[in-house]
Amino acid sequence: MIEGVFNEGFATTSYDSVVNWAKTGSIWPMTFGLACCAVEMMHAAAARYDISRFGSEVFRASPRQSDLMIVAGTLCNKMAPALRKVYDQMSEPRWVISMGSCANGGGYYHYSYSVVRGCDRVVPVDVYVPGCPPTAEALIYGILQLQQKIRRTETIARV
Ligand code: SF4
Repeated sequence: MIEGVFNEGFATTSYDSVVNWAKTGSIWPMTFGLACCAVEMMHAAAARYDISRFGSEVFRASPRQSDLMIVAGTLCNKMAPALRKVYDQMSEPRWVISMGSCANGGGYYHYSYSVVRGCDRVVPVDVYVPGCPPTAEALIYGILQLQQKIRRTETIARV
């Protein structure tokens, strides 16, 4: 992040780097557990894996206080409008992690009439975490991938 050091205690960097550094260290996930994958999501936040080490410990129950939606589980047709509504209530910048086979593409229920074949049909997904269920480590890896993606984004629209 630091691009140059001139004399002791003096450093230069870019605005993008500082803002993205702050964003990656304060990703607040929203609680959106839909099925069994949610248990591994809770596991990731508990003491053994402790995602607070990566700046993501503050799970919020309100979309207005969150910037990351972790879709953890099977998304059925009836739930899809609610998922979209909650996503729309999150302020920018916001990100989505699709966790598990069901959220990624329907999983076991791919041919069920009642299941959405991938939450990316409803909300834009930034990172897909495979598995049934993905382990807590896999979710943490997904969050680290998201942090890398955030670091690559520009914070100022250049025209
Ligand atoms: Fe359950 Fe597997 Fe679907 Fe996750 S991917 S919600 S563990 S059936």
